[in-house]
Amino acid sequence: MGYSVDVIEARDRLGGRAHSVPFGKGTADLGAAWLHSTPYNPLLPLAKKTGVEYANTNFASHSALSKDGRIDQIVLSPESTTAPFETMTGPGLSWAWRSAIGLSAPDGSAGQYMEEGIAASLNSVEACTVRGLYEVAFAAELDDIHIVGLLGSSGTDPYWKPDPTLEDGLPRSDALMYEGMQKFLEILSKDIPVSLNEPVRVINWGSDGLVVESSKRSEQFDAVIVTVSIGVLKNGSIKFVPPLPDSYRQALNGLSMGLLNKVLLRYPEGTKWRTDRQFISFCDKDPVQFAVNGLALTNDPAFFGLAGGNAARAIEQATDDELVHKLHSQLRIATGIALPDPVEVRVTRWSLDPWALGSNAYLNRQATGYEKLALRQPLVGRVLFAGEAISIEGGSVDTAYFDGVRAAHFLNSG
Ligand SMILES: Cc1cc2nc3c(=O)[nH]c(=O)nc-3n(C[C@H](O)[C@H](O)[C@H](O)COP(=O)(O)OP(=O)(O)OC[C@H]3O[C@@H](n4cnc5c(N)ncnc54)[C@H](O)[C@@H]3O)c2cc1C
Repeated sequence: MGYSVDVIEARDRLGGRAHSVPFGKGTADLGAAWLHSTPYNPLLPLAKKTGVEYANTNFASHSALSKDGRIDQIVLSPESTTAPFETMTGPGLSWAWRSAIGLSAPDGSAGQYMEEGIAASLNSVEACTVRGLYEVAFAAELDDIHIVGLLGSSGTDPYWKPDPTLEDGLPRSDALMYEGMQKFLEILSKDIPVSLNEPVRVINWGSDGLVVESSKRSEQFDAVIVTVSIGVLKNGSIKFVPPLPDSYRQALNGLSMGLLNKVLLRYPEGTKWRTDRQFISFCDKDPVQFAVNGLALTNDPAFFGLAGGNAARAIEQATDDELVHKLHSQLRIATGIALPDPVEVRVTRWSLDPWALGSNAYLNRQATGYEKLALRQPLVGRVLFAGEAISIEGGSVDTAYFDGVRAAHFLNSG
């Protein structure tokens, strides 16, 4: 693209919030695991080219464990997943005209509107399953998310195309990268020079030139693309000299870091349970909202539990033993079999990871709707923010990737 590129990475590995580790005979993802919304996800053709194996999943297929211990086998219909959004037409129209004349977004939380839709159309089992799916998808409590987080931040992303099937509220086909998301990203970045173990501490963008100070060097660059999370941007571990202008700091106030955590349990080879549902959802959200049925998807005797929002925060207050005991007990009830003790366990605590400080950003109740647009403005034309933190289209691997492409195109065209 006309620039030589140097990637400066704080960690001792590539991948950031995509982190794959050995698990049993294969691999488990502690961070991102799915390419969502296939076949529309623009990264899927790249994944196919690299030959990384994936399994198609359907987030509508659940065994649901109610709070009273009842188990229902459900396949969420398109109607049940659009129901939470049926109340959004009014605020959506209001946001469309307000943004056309530069006003801030209409007031209200995502929870307020979604609960109305849920209460009007879903039975209690569908309701708790759908709620759990969205708490995990948004990595936050629905009441903490500004309605504009669902209506879409002002602006559009020229390098990313939405999945038209998402109009029914839930992706129906997602690629679980069971050989590891990190492997896929490492293949994508194989020709790019990366310096590991090098935290950036200061970005000087004043009149003396653009100088990056890290743990290893102080070096002048023509341009810088900053792709750290909103958590890292907000906690000030990278100092900007001079400080970021007010418009950037105000934009950061409207964004919060959400939290998604995982509890992964592997059972002895040969352990069997029913495989006609891909997920088990837990209405009491303790310790997770739902678990992926590994046996159903990849013939792997494992469950991958996912928790978002308050449930993910509770995971960080508990010990591994407590979490394993709770999830294992719930799984015994949900599968209806005397599962033996798990032989391997992994628990994540992403808010304690200093280079992520959470899982992905959401627009909080202070948001105006213009936050991402404000953060997309280049500083002195040469310092750009990019990645999941800035992506207008959502908090996933593909949107992060294409937001990076947007920033690179800007520099290349300048
Ligand atoms: C548990 C979990 C599950 C998820 N599941 C999915 C999923 O299934 N599908 C999906 O699409 N997305 C998922 N996501 C979201 C996805 O992982 C992120 O949106 C995406 O990986 C963000 O990419 P990024 O490049 O913007 O940021 P990052 O991956 O965070 O990359 C930023 C990099 O900056 C580095 N860094 C931070 N501070 C400094 C510093 N001071 N100096 C130098 N380097 C620094 C970090 O180490 C990191 O490598 C999940 C996230 C989590 C945590």
